[in-house]
Amino acid sequence: MTEQKKYVYLFKEGNSKMKDLLGGKGANLAEMTGIGLPVPQGFTITTEACNYYSEHNALPEGLVEEYMTALKAIEAETGKKFGDSENPLLVSVRSGAKFSMPGMMDTVLNLGLNETTLKAIVKLTDNERFAYDAYRRFIAMFSNIVLGIELKHFEHILHGVKEKNNVKLDTDLTTDNLKEVVKLYKEYLKNVHNIEFETDPHKQLKLAIEAVFQSWNNPRAKTYRRLTKISDSLGTAVNIQSMVFGNMGKGSATGVAFTRNPSTGENKLYGEYLENAQGEDVVAGIRTPNPIAEMEKDFPEVFKQFSETATRLENHYRDMQDLEFTIERGHLYMLQTRNGKRTAPAAIKIAVEMVSEGLISKEEALLRIEDPSTLDQLLHKQIDGSIKVNVIAKGLPASPGAAAGMAIFDADRAEELGKEGKRVILVRQETSPDDIHGIVEAQGVLTSRGGMTSHAAVVTRGMGKPCVAGCESVKVDVDKKVLTYNGGTIKEGDFFTINGSTGEIILGDVPMKEAELGIEFKTLLQWAKDVKKLGIRANADAPNDAKKAREFGAEGIGLCRTEHMFMEVDRLPIVQKMIMATTDAERQEALDKLLPIQRGDFEGIFRAMEGLPVTIRLLDPPLHEFLPSLKELIAEVATLKATNSNPTLLKEKEELLKVVESLHESNPMMGLRGCRLGISLPGINKMQVKAIIQAAIILKKEGLVVLPEIMIPLIGHVNELKLVRGELEEVAKETMDEMGQTVEYMFGTMIEIPRAAITADEVAEYAQFFSFGTNDLTQMTFGYSRDDAENKFLQTYLDKKILKDNPFQVLDRDGVGQLVKMAVEKGKKTNPKIKLGVCGEHGGEPSSIEFFYNAGLNYVSCSPFRVPIAILAGAQATIKGENKTSGYSNL
Ligand code: PEP
Ligand code: MG
Repeated sequence: MTEQKKYVYLFKEGNSKMKDLLGGKGANLAEMTGIGLPVPQGFTITTEACNYYSEHNALPEGLVEEYMTALKAIEAETGKKFGDSENPLLVSVRSGAKFSMPGMMDTVLNLGLNETTLKAIVKLTDNERFAYDAYRRFIAMFSNIVLGIELKHFEHILHGVKEKNNVKLDTDLTTDNLKEVVKLYKEYLKNVHNIEFETDPHKQLKLAIEAVFQSWNNPRAKTYRRLTKISDSLGTAVNIQSMVFGNMGKGSATGVAFTRNPSTGENKLYGEYLENAQGEDVVAGIRTPNPIAEMEKDFPEVFKQFSETATRLENHYRDMQDLEFTIERGHLYMLQTRNGKRTAPAAIKIAVEMVSEGLISKEEALLRIEDPSTLDQLLHKQIDGSIKVNVIAKGLPASPGAAAGMAIFDADRAEELGKEGKRVILVRQETSPDDIHGIVEAQGVLTSRGGMTSHAAVVTRGMGKPCVAGCESVKVDVDKKVLTYNGGTIKEGDFFTINGSTGEIILGDVPMKEAELGIEFKTLLQWAKDVKKLGIRANADAPNDAKKAREFGAEGIGLCRTEHMFMEVDRLPIVQKMIMATTDAERQEALDKLLPIQRGDFEGIFRAMEGLPVTIRLLDPPLHEFLPSLKELIAEVATLKATNSNPTLLKEKEELLKVVESLHESNPMMGLRGCRLGISLPGINKMQVKAIIQAAIILKKEGLVVLPEIMIPLIGHVNELKLVRGELEEVAKETMDEMGQTVEYMFGTMIEIPRAAITADEVAEYAQFFSFGTNDLTQMTFGYSRDDAENKFLQTYLDKKILKDNPFQVLDRDGVGQLVKMAVEKGKKTNPKIKLGVCGEHGGEPSSIEFFYNAGLNYVSCSPFRVPIAILAGAQATIKGENKTSGYSNL
């Protein structure tokens, strides 16, 4: 006989390592139980049961019996009985996946209530008001989660009773008012939905468990998982826990707290609580809660116990904790602990301080920045302090950084405009998980209600977007699409600014300044530099960008795209002349004019990167990119012909049109570009090499160390490189002879075409370095046009799970990655000293960086602002160290 799978674990049977099976919440409730903290007892139904349910649309066989046994154990422990008419046990039914998905799935509180148990609760607590308050909440939550009826209908009824009785807060409702609410809720269910509210507690429990399992696949949970890359196959656990009540009047409360400030990282208990309230009230923003520090005054004894518990949990988990607690008639109960989400500045401060407190090692501190991309938040802009601003209101500084944009009052519109590249600020009374798509596309969020732990605050902090929450002095009317402040209004489409670091709301589109990096950031980055073995370079074409990259820690330039120099307004006419030349002499004349300009460009870059290598790529794009568009020219010529107004201009334009037509290609990305261009029109490459060598010699003569690396793009066949290298080395030699000075330089190629990767052993014989152009390599390997894929079909591919990630952002390890590995191996075979780098966008993406390190590359190159991210990702790759022998910083 096969042993029956265990689907149910009492809290005392589990521990924090069982997150796969018990979910994060369940595993931590078990851990807290294990270390003797006051946790209301209960049990967890495993994620495996959820997965079974998702697959079969039914609970696994034997599950009901198994959880009934667990329920009996809880009854024995609490001395209460489920559904009992004298001492009834009430439970909460909460979702809890392996990774926290705040507010995405469902929870039912006060389950087990019916007319009989209600009476018993009234008697036991001698508090009729409390009992009816719990009952009306239960009816609304159960109807919403289990029956799928929108909460707004219940809110509407509640609001009606409040208005009728002239009451502002829920807590001001009398017992009779609440009785009326319960009656109206039931009537609404009966009259509108023809539903008798379920009275059997066991049926209630089974239905709630199934509803929580179903909520794993609700659309908002799916969206959240897609955005946060949580696998759909994990499933959620369900925690059934005996209820404790924070709404038993004065002396009872509920709250949430972090052991350190999740916004700034300050080492001080941080959070909020609400007296006489039930859990969801704090996060829902229904009443604005009190700061946790005030608890010391209101509940001195419990506050002491709570602070000690917080410290104990932080030391136990060796990380900042996010806690939920309830005080029931003066007794503290812990309902949740988990590693707290935090902003990037907070993550850095906490990690660095925990090292000095002796809690964690430097390596652990580096790994604590789980997603190095979040460092981006620190590099973000702030409001320029020297500018006078017009502050119209102040809310809570819920997520740091500043943002300006148009006021938009609904998430759909925010998404739409955001996708069009417009800057928007989402303005709401409060946000809910249904707004997530709008928040993703907005620059920032403003809410008029809710605290520092409200949905808007938590979600934006996670995304690194600025947020001002609970700005109660403004009135937000989402129907009329207007925000009213003391003295005026902001209407839909009006630009305004929020400062998530101070809570200020500012009129107009305020200018921003670059971020300043704090001491902890510098400390962490230094540790990362000490640990990492992978070299980190930057992609930069202008001296200012190069300087910025160097400040951020770049150890060289891995890609200088020279076409950007050709595009500048003063050069473009010369470049166009060069392209349109009909004779060699005419072309040479234009090239001679470009030479000193290019030399100046290279001098600037070499000077900024003095002592560090600079890889310069010779011209890559097809020539038509430097000429006016074919479509526009055809239209212009047609108009000029029709009006017959300017025959000279018409002649000029007709000639231009001829050239543009002759250069027109149906597939320019695979046409005359890269080395093919240099082979067809060798003058351009020759001019560029001459300019590079001249610039290097000029600076060398000044006593500067210059390390140029000349790079040929888009090689597909070794003979291309052989030919070009021969020609250009000749030019380099001639230039050195002319100037009477030599200079060291390297000659290499990009690997961007699958054929180059496959024949890398041949190519390496003519290259001192390879730089993987993973943008083109991805394009050519998949056969996806990178200009079209992202806005045509890639999103569909991601939605349909054909692809896990956008391959232009995250390296496709199984395809493109294998080509990289093959080229590394083959290249090293014929040229063991070959230097290997990557300069495609993937060079700044943490998981791809780990792959490149393990594949044996020497360096990655990315945009200047991603350099710190790459340094940290490089350090993490070393620590995780799959391949300790590869990767060295010999740049
Ligand atoms: C590449 O193809 O990866 C690359 C860096 O070149 P570009 O993006 O300029 O084509
Ligand atoms: Mg390329």
